[in-house]
Amino acid sequence: MIHIAVLFLYFLNILQAEHVWFVKFPSKDDHLSHIEKSFPLIDLLQHDYNDSSYVFLLPSTYQTKLRRLIHQANGSYRILSNNARNTWKVSPDRPKRSVLSDNPLDESYYQRFPTYDEHQEWQQLLQSSPQTQKLIRLHTIGQTYENRSLTVVQIHTNYPRRIQGRRKRKQAIYIDGGMHAREWLSVGVANYILIQFLLLRESDPKVHEILRHFDIFVLPMMNPDGYEYSRTHNRLWRKNRSPTSHSEFWNGDQNCYGVDLNRNFPYQWNSTYGASSHPCSHSYRGISPASESEVESVVNFLRRQRISHPKFYAYFNLHSYGRFWLLPWTYTMLERVTNYDELFERSTRVANEVMNQTYRVGQASFLLYPCSGTSIDFASTFMSHAMTFELSPIFQGLPMCVEQNKTVNHGCTVGFLIGPESIQIDGNEIFKAIIEYLYALVQDHFV
Ligand SMILES: [Zn+2]
Repeated sequence: MIHIAVLFLYFLNILQAEHVWFVKFPSKDDHLSHIEKSFPLIDLLQHDYNDSSYVFLLPSTYQTKLRRLIHQANGSYRILSNNARNTWKVSPDRPKRSVLSDNPLDESYYQRFPTYDEHQEWQQLLQSSPQTQKLIRLHTIGQTYENRSLTVVQIHTNYPRRIQGRRKRKQAIYIDGGMHAREWLSVGVANYILIQFLLLRESDPKVHEILRHFDIFVLPMMNPDGYEYSRTHNRLWRKNRSPTSHSEFWNGDQNCYGVDLNRNFPYQWNSTYGASSHPCSHSYRGISPASESEVESVVNFLRRQRISHPKFYAYFNLHSYGRFWLLPWTYTMLERVTNYDELFERSTRVANEVMNQTYRVGQASFLLYPCSGTSIDFASTFMSHAMTFELSPIFQGLPMCVEQNKTVNHGCTVGFLIGPESIQIDGNEIFKAIIEYLYALVQDHFV
């Protein structure tokens, strides 16, 4: 009997194994939508449209069929990892938390990927430390399925806001990171941005001017359940961890848990291809709009703040990977947001100045692919300036090759696995871009 159980687990393990494929096609045809239609459970990790190359995470059961499709399109492929979960296990030897400073603005707080508990402790320190307590307010906006808190950090200064001599109420800016569990860089960069706002509030004239007009609200870790799962079980995990209708039936298959939070927002939910109805898909949209507590909490928080003071004016949504500056709409290629030209012009100017033209700016549905239920589309229904940054400090074509990472085949890896040393590099770039964007907004609209 034991032998049968062991055999069963062995085959279950083979069936559930996921492989990471690097695929390249000779033509720029629309390979992606064809592949996604043929393989509903495939997960696109990275792509380079100019080069027609893609990195996919793929269940082992798809292998033969995908090989055939690639062959028919005269494409080529390389398998980067035969068992993604085992190849990229998280290293257990992390530095002890006792080395961290009493100063919540110390660089040690953004030079690492914290655990959820460490992150909570740091936020509490921000609220209680003499350096920051007068500048910080914490908002617990909800709880996750696994009962972790969703905490928004508000930066509020007493700099008076005056326009043409008259005192005005401040507007608000919303920034979030960590919506997708494996995108650790976006959590680190959100923390970095928060710290830079606080450090530079007096010394940098542009930061000071921005804080005169805006309160800054940051939710650095929107998906703490998924984040912890990606730390402890599966480094390439994307969704949250709530059970779905398939979780019990496919008890052993962890992919049948969780909802893609960036397909669950209540605007144009399920209106287009690109948000899966399959509970075992990496981009599962959930059973209804805002069915997930993470999304519902954010939606309620933004709506609540919207009718009181302060009003939300802009939203910066942090993801990784790919060096894209994405503008709404995401759900359609047929329409543009009404102020698209203004968004595009300002974003392009800032990207050229700050990122040296290495970010591509444009409508999300064109630069990536149309998908529905995203946070920037939802935010665009009541904010004039909502955008997504797909971060990445270096982009060397696909797959990313990081030679010092000895654990990965051929020295090549996927972008999610970049180390914490990238937080400062990318954070510095994105912080500057946000400052330039907001400062230009203030000059154009408030002065
Ligand atoms: Zn993402």
